Amino acid sequence: MSIIDELTSALGPAKVALDAPTLTAYAVDQAPVLDYQQPQAVVHAESVEDVQATVRACAAHGVPLVARGAGTGVSGGAHASKGCVVLSLERMNRILDLNPDDETAVVEAGVVNADLNAAAAVHGLMYAPDPASFRLSTIGGNVATNAGGLRCAKYGVTRDSVLALDVVLADGSLIHTGHQTFKGVAGYDLTALFVGSEGTLGIVVGITVRLKYLPQDVHTVAAFYPDFRSAAAGVLAVGKARVQPAIMELLDSGTLAQLDEIHGSDLAARGSRCC
Ligand SMILES: Cc1cc2nc3c(=O)[nH]c(=O)nc-3n(C[C@H](O)[C@H](O)[C@H](O)COP(=O)(O)OP(=O)(O)OC[C@H]3O[C@@H](n4cnc5c(N)ncnc54)[C@H](O)[C@@H]3O)c2cc1C
Repeated sequence: MSIIDELTSALGPAKVALDAPTLTAYAVDQAPVLDYQQPQAVVHAESVEDVQATVRACAAHGVPLVARGAGTGVSGGAHASKGCVVLSLERMNRILDLNPDDETAVVEAGVVNADLNAAAAVHGLMYAPDPASFRLSTIGGNVATNAGGLRCAKYGVTRDSVLALDVVLADGSLIHTGHQTFKGVAGYDLTALFVGSEGTLGIVVGITVRLKYLPQDVHTVAAFYPDFRSAAAGVLAVGKARVQPAIMELLDSGTLAQLDEIHGSDLAARGSRCC
């Protein structure tokens, strides 16, 4: 039996895409393409069992498997490789538990970062890691790339918010790593090992994350400096004052000029008037 026949009979035809537009759409992520390849099939997993069946079938046929969240990666990790099957986790998008008392949530890998944040915000909580792709990218993809965003200087990167994982290994077995509590420290830290492993160690199917409090009162300060060196000194001064901003960004004059050009703003002019 071919890999396609095996996947189709195990999962049903609705979960195994073979049409050209889908194969093309799932061939690449947002990275430059150096060696374009199309997958043989795209599997749209809807359950842990679907992932296990796909992994087992690919292992039995010696077919490479490429895990994929939203395909927003910029390093080609989700590019198809020769003769591969792409395993999309997008349909595994349920928030399985959100516990405001424990300040934790358990999600399937295909939950979009912004959707988890919207659900947490109802309870005055947030999922802190915020890659700029947060409106599209999945928590599974964020875990696989150990994504960080503007809030990471204060709250840490993805690894700092992941407590536990459910992972399907290359033989199709399902393991659980980590703990449900912030202070769970017993045993080897396999969770940290899987975070950032880009799908090379297994397929992440479930994630237990730590939530943080949504800031109650947000103040935004813009400071303009005559040159980059004094701006850098300003950044250090904020740290020395033992103030920890949620987000701090240093923009040079070239960046300000580009932003003004794109958005029709006058950020650079305000700076020159100030200084
Ligand atoms: C506009 C834009 C802004 C971005 N901003 C940031 C940023 O600020 N910070 C940052 O860190 N990144 C950023 N990125 C990169 C990208 O969004 C992140 O890497 C994101 O975490 C990828 O998530 P995804 O769901 O799109 O994963 P994909 O791109 O689909 O996959 C990324 C990698 O993870 C693997 N993978 C995906 N899901 C799983 C899974 N369930 N189990 C195992 N492996 C899996 C894939 O095989 C691939 O290697 C940005 C990208 C864009 C396009």
